[in-house]
Amino acid sequence: MSHRINSKKELEIFLEKLERPPSYKNWLEQYPTDPGLAAHIATLAFLDGNVAGKTVADLGAGFGILSVAFAALGASRVIAVEVDSDLVNLGMENANGFPIDYVNSDVRGFSERVNTVVMNPPFGSVNPHSDVDFLEKAVCISENIYSLHNAKSANFVENFLSSHGTIIRREEVSIRIPRIYGHHKKDWMDIPAFFFTTRVVSSVENPQQNHN
Ligand code: SAH
Repeated sequence: MSHRINSKKELEIFLEKLERPPSYKNWLEQYPTDPGLAAHIATLAFLDGNVAGKTVADLGAGFGILSVAFAALGASRVIAVEVDSDLVNLGMENANGFPIDYVNSDVRGFSERVNTVVMNPPFGSVNPHSDVDFLEKAVCISENIYSLHNAKSANFVENFLSSHGTIIRREEVSIRIPRIYGHHKKDWMDIPAFFFTTRVVSSVENPQQNHN
């Protein structure tokens, strides 16, 4: 590993230094996780025993903040799945020596099995139900899921996750977003969100048949 991280704060400071894109694509619902929240999620996953020496998939990885956080805490391999090739290129630069492999693909076309999924997926506010594609993929390919969701869809997400596993953590958080879109009025805003940790119990081969 090229960097040694000894605390959550150190991880946050390290993540603050990552290269960010010059602009974001609203139609892909690109809302980055802020460094404090990314460090929080990765640290909890580490303490749960789901990072060090584990394979991780970061679904909708963006410029890779969650991928880098998990790799910096010792994941053996992180697969960063991202549909936007501009962000894939930036993410590969940010990977900088860490075992992070980018896959430039729609999440629906990805099928490698991993120990752990981390994701801050599209919230489905621009493309209705885009979050469902991510949830279905996550329960198909992994044993543990660390995911962020819009507070508005928290009940739906909770029902989905609890029908495929055991939710072991449900935390109210806010995602701090700098002004990245023209329709934003303030310099930053806090988006109310939920962070779920789920242990997947049923291995789902065909998610279409598993809507309870
Ligand atoms: N995980 C990153 C980015 C979150 S925003 C972070 O936490 O900062 C959601 C990301 O999902 C965006 O980068 C967007 O381009 C990507 N995305 C949207 N739809 C996708 C799809 N169908 N397949 C793969 N990636 C997708």
